[in-house]
Amino acid sequence: MSATLDPTTATSEGDTLPELTRDELVRYSRHVLLPEVGVEGQRRLKAARVLLVGAGGLGSPAALYLAAAGVGTLGIVDFDRVDITNLHRQLLHGTSDVGRTKLASAVDRLREVNPHVTVEPHDIRLSSANALELIRQYDLVVDGTDNFQTRYLVNDACVLTGRPNVYGSIFRFDGQVSVFCTAEGPCYRCIYREPPPPGMVPSCAEGGVLGILPGIVGILQATEAIKLILGIGEPLIGRLNLIDALGARQRTVKIKRDPSCPACGTRELQALVDYDAFCGIGAAPSEAPILEITPTELAAKLARRDDFVLLDVRDPHEYAIASIPGARLVPLGTFGDAISSLDRATDIVIHCRSGARSAKAVRQLQAAGFTRVWNVVGGILRWADDVDPSVAKY
Ligand SMILES: [Zn+2]
Repeated sequence: MSATLDPTTATSEGDTLPELTRDELVRYSRHVLLPEVGVEGQRRLKAARVLLVGAGGLGSPAALYLAAAGVGTLGIVDFDRVDITNLHRQLLHGTSDVGRTKLASAVDRLREVNPHVTVEPHDIRLSSANALELIRQYDLVVDGTDNFQTRYLVNDACVLTGRPNVYGSIFRFDGQVSVFCTAEGPCYRCIYREPPPPGMVPSCAEGGVLGILPGIVGILQATEAIKLILGIGEPLIGRLNLIDALGARQRTVKIKRDPSCPACGTRELQALVDYDAFCGIGAAPSEAPILEITPTELAAKLARRDDFVLLDVRDPHEYAIASIPGARLVPLGTFGDAISSLDRATDIVIHCRSGARSAKAVRQLQAAGFTRVWNVVGGILRWADDVDPSVAKY
């Protein structure tokens, strides 16, 4: 029994596991031969309920291999249709499926791969309104999403429901895999506290992707899912696997739970939020533009000893890792309280890690009537790149 799966989900007791038919025993015989799997492990796989979020690049190989391996129930959430540009990487779908829903195509293909598997199609867009109820019905989630809003949504919903989140993401020739939201390990938010500013990271449609890469990453996700179900090996809990397809290199870095993580650390996040707003998508265009300053310009301003206030809106533990000399720490969470202490006549420059939180702080000051406020583009990460390489990037 894996320590990371919910013991109430019927995979805990050998005698409550479903029996294998003769056909299944023959089909899975090369699995059953493995002492780490055996008949009982194969029965665990049959009992398991896995939810795949997305039937695209990552979901395709994950679904094919999890079905072939005999995972008893595969839920698939997708609302998209098969497009000809999907076919160079989404092998769940074929040329004759173009124009069909990905769900219909997936159901047909997976039935052909393994008729013993029950596929539960969910023709919905995963949202804050439906994610908890859906994810609760499964033992674990394989996250095959391609956008930040859904990735944070899946992460938070997995933390709130106590379901492991087998995470994968791809970008051009590089991939990442980990297992988040377990009792022992970190969650996605522990590692990526804030989304990148909208438009900064191109999607596959904008930036391209090597077709094989989601195959590699999705299969690694399926491998992690099977290890969690069987309770064997060393799952990628507290470790992030980085895949460099061009360099043919894989390395695994240790990652830790952040005690100040609002999802799995302080647990202040007790419900799902508006993830479009969190990621800065679809926000109403503000009347005033955000004034920007580059780290290089900021360094020159500091060197000239210009009269201005530099604010850092990150959290204290981040300030302890890396800071810009002279910056006053005012975490974004308490920023509203600090506004009354600021002088409207003085220029104010605000920075954070990458520029997203500081942009929110600039908006708050603009809303309060401040006009001379600048956002440091790229935050302290770009400061480390452009001004002071001795500053730690995290
Ligand atoms: Zn966390």
